[in-house]
Amino acid sequence: MSTATHCPYCALQCAMHVEAGPDGQPAVRPADFPTNRGGLCRKGWSAAQLLHSPQRLVRPLVRTGGTGEFAETGWDEALDFVAGRMAGVREQHGPDAVAVFGSGGLTNEKSYLLGKFARLALGTSRIDYNGRFCMSSAAAAGIRAFGLDRGLGFPLPDVASAEVVLLAGANPAETMPPMMGHLSGPRLIVVDPRRSATAEFARERGGLHLAPRPGTDLALALGLLHSARAQDLLDGDYIGARTSGFDEAWKYAAAFWPERTEQVTGVPAHLVRAAARALGTARGAYVLTGRGAEQHATGTDTVSAWINLALALGLCGRAGSGYGCITGQGNGQGGREHGQKADQLPGYRRIDDPAARAHVAGVWGVDAGELPGPGPSAFELLDSLGTAAGPKALLLMGSNPAVSAPEAGRVRDRLSALDLLVTCDFVMSETAAMADVVLPVAQWAEETGTMTNLEGRLLRRRAVLDPPPGVRTDLEVISGLARRLGQPDQRFPAGADAVLAELGRASAGGGADYAGVSPQRLEAGEELFWPVPGPGAGTPRMFLEGFAHADGRARFAAVGHRGAAEEADAQFPLIATTGRLMGHYQSGAQTRRIGELAEAEPEACVEVHPDTGARAGLDDGGWARVVSRRGATLARVRYRAGARTDTVFLPFHYGGEQAANNLTNPVLDPVSRMPEFKVSAVRLERSDPP
Ligand code: SF4
Repeated sequence: MSTATHCPYCALQCAMHVEAGPDGQPAVRPADFPTNRGGLCRKGWSAAQLLHSPQRLVRPLVRTGGTGEFAETGWDEALDFVAGRMAGVREQHGPDAVAVFGSGGLTNEKSYLLGKFARLALGTSRIDYNGRFCMSSAAAAGIRAFGLDRGLGFPLPDVASAEVVLLAGANPAETMPPMMGHLSGPRLIVVDPRRSATAEFARERGGLHLAPRPGTDLALALGLLHSARAQDLLDGDYIGARTSGFDEAWKYAAAFWPERTEQVTGVPAHLVRAAARALGTARGAYVLTGRGAEQHATGTDTVSAWINLALALGLCGRAGSGYGCITGQGNGQGGREHGQKADQLPGYRRIDDPAARAHVAGVWGVDAGELPGPGPSAFELLDSLGTAAGPKALLLMGSNPAVSAPEAGRVRDRLSALDLLVTCDFVMSETAAMADVVLPVAQWAEETGTMTNLEGRLLRRRAVLDPPPGVRTDLEVISGLARRLGQPDQRFPAGADAVLAELGRASAGGGADYAGVSPQRLEAGEELFWPVPGPGAGTPRMFLEGFAHADGRARFAAVGHRGAAEEADAQFPLIATTGRLMGHYQSGAQTRRIGELAEAEPEACVEVHPDTGARAGLDDGGWARVVSRRGATLARVRYRAGARTDTVFLPFHYGGEQAANNLTNPVLDPVSRMPEFKVSAVRLERSDPP
């Protein structure tokens, strides 16, 4: 047995072979592929261990009325129970009383069928997904600038031949280590309040680390644009021929000369000038943004400011240079294209667009008037659960919001207030442990489907082995529930290839057009980057001929600096920012159950400058209680000499009393509805170990 497939975790989607290991259990061996070039990170290497973990869920669980404990049951009983309760809630309170929450980890087929299930089988507008917490600001800014959002918009290996790469709020040395193979040649400019592994990598190789005060990234981008113009580095011909709106955007950058930028951001003026000069004089340069730029109440504008810089330097829509968003979740790209977003129909269509509604309704065989309209975004949806006007029932697939949502304690209260919480999971995550029904579903190597990686490249995930007895796929769950809710069998097929074929028809003519994607083409090894409208080769590099706006021009956004929603003060004198560690993935529900990963990073930590720690009475290696206006969390203290003295860092992979999201601020970006995960005012207190 040796089957070629892709990693279950992040958007790099490293290629691997899964085969029998020395103990007879499935094991992973890396495969050569453009994104990982034969490399894997430790998460990828250990990914097969969860397939045979004793912590796997293998029977449907329903909480009994008598004891409140979970009891095992059969699939028919579980699905009958869920469908019956959903129908009852709908009957009593209307269709919006049943909600659905999806994930950027789901395959394209699952994302598509889940959106269709919500709109047709439930008739609800209450559907959104955890990608709203990850990539929504870059998606909104990309659409604003280019008319269309596709992660990198070029193959990742292109980046390796650039002279300079600016990474704003991304830490691939820890989160996507094989990506560093593409970043070892270019000179790096790393923008991150934290002295991250990527910042260290840049410094060791003669690059720059710009460490702005959290919440001032937008001002820093304006400062770089100002400095680039002052040094006569802008591409006037490109701005005139391929863009619009520069003059309005410049009005905001005009006020950010380097010394003013230093005042606002804390980044020395000479570094602002040096970064602008390096980027503006490079033969081939890329600006890449990650969650650090996005997870703010100003996230969309912040990403727009970085895109403005790239446009002013003439980088976008040209071979050998560009702007891109480093998507995080495994199917963060495909997951945001096919209809599990509150405002979206398949093919990256808007749900409030009459032509889009007519097209998709035609494919689904219904009248467009039957489709609900847009619903609330992820946090707004979660925050309304169990309220008088909010949903009473929730179906959750591939997500763990009890850990990953902002102000997680408040979200846990809302989940507890539901009449019916149903989760589809393969382990007992923190959210599953709160559920009324837990449906045990297959893992990545036990089912077939397609993913779209951070480059917009279509990938085939292959079934390597059968799921354990008693486990079903997510598609089978959706199909089984839809049938019980009165939908015709053929409308909700459970086979991935049949769903992909329908997804192709539904997406045809949309921005993310998959009409020409087929399992046969992917099995034959064709490189397909969307849009793939037909049998042709797809589109590895976007916007070479023109941007997706009607006039073919990219648009500068007129965006100004606004501070974070919350500032440090006497009561909460420090800023907490959150992110990821090498050994864990997202809420940690999977990786905390893998022995070697759990041993390497067994508990939450808080990185502090030694002076800051000493002032708070903390010992390196001791424990701290970190407190914000919304809650508290416990973390092991790690002194970091390179840290900012006004900022602490916490990973968000842990649950319960070690959840970093107990602290975070759910104030939302007005465009993307992204919460401000990256800036929370906190104080540190010495604590006993948990
Ligand atoms: Fe998996 Fe991402 Fe690690 Fe690659 S970098 S092995 S895709 S987690």
